[in-house]
Amino acid sequence: MKHQQTPIITQERDGWELPGWQRQQADLITDPAELLSLLGLGAESLPESLAAAKDFPLRVPRGYVRLMEPGNPHDPLLRQVLSVPAELREEDGYSSDPLEEASHTPVPGLLHKYHGRALLVVTGACAVHCRYCFRRHFPYQSHLSGKRWDQALEWLASRRDIGEVILSGGDPLTLNNRRLQELLAALAEIPHLRRLRIHSRTPVVIPERMDEPLLALLSDSRWQTALVLHANHSREISDELVSRCQQWRREGITLLNQSVLLAGVNDSVDTLEALSDRLHVAGVMPYYLHQLDAVQGAAHFAVPDSVAMQLHRDLRSRLPGFLVPRLSREEPGEPAKTVLAG
Ligand code: SF4
Repeated sequence: MKHQQTPIITQERDGWELPGWQRQQADLITDPAELLSLLGLGAESLPESLAAAKDFPLRVPRGYVRLMEPGNPHDPLLRQVLSVPAELREEDGYSSDPLEEASHTPVPGLLHKYHGRALLVVTGACAVHCRYCFRRHFPYQSHLSGKRWDQALEWLASRRDIGEVILSGGDPLTLNNRRLQELLAALAEIPHLRRLRIHSRTPVVIPERMDEPLLALLSDSRWQTALVLHANHSREISDELVSRCQQWRREGITLLNQSVLLAGVNDSVDTLEALSDRLHVAGVMPYYLHQLDAVQGAAHFAVPDSVAMQLHRDLRSRLPGFLVPRLSREEPGEPAKTVLAG
């Protein structure tokens, strides 16, 4: 099965004008030729790029492209989104379901991997397609068909041992505020849910998604909500994102970041230090630095453990402990993430 390719809903039923973030989501770049041309880059590798994008299409907001360096084919932001021929190579040890999530799915739309926590797959849509995504082959269609969240909500209500629900996807913040409000209202009816966490990369690529109605929705909920951003490079943290994060922090939202260590993107101590510095300015706590999940098509992003651990040691020698994320890896069947260096 392929990554969900249905379009993101871009029109409100009541006819009001769409918020700016939704207009950006409706106007994504999906053609590698257009992306290369906007950056003033040649199209020599275009046929292979198009072939690699066939099963997992290119998808990138225009505002994110403006953060890239024109004329630089090795730009670390571009590398995260442009399909490349290396994705087509079959690599030993890489699979379509590297975390064996299929075996942790008690009901469609819900993953239960760790004690006391469950993850809701609320949508298969994303505002950006990241080439390293471990869910790039995820069977979203079988999770999100039919009555959508009903079975998952019933399962959560029946499991008193689950204290935390994590909204994931796809990207949960591609849903509009009305849908999120419906979901949060349904979750709030489940008394034993004590914590709400949202994982999203949308604010990194469309900072305007952190809008006032969403802030009000989360601030008014009965939870101390944690929003986990997924930024991998300091240049992804625009002034706009900094200012919105600062506002959300003032309103009491817990902001964390988890990154993936990616060859050619952030595998240098200078880059990782700059990322932590910039997160600090935004009021976001660096939380995890993940080793790549071995998903088919992403092997060219892998950084060997020995290199990763040296980078982490170097980072610790430069920054205070609270700005050094834990280097970790998710391993199928383990009761928690494996921390390689804390
Ligand atoms: S936003 Fe997240 S789920 Fe979507 S493609 Fe990127 S890494 Fe994968």
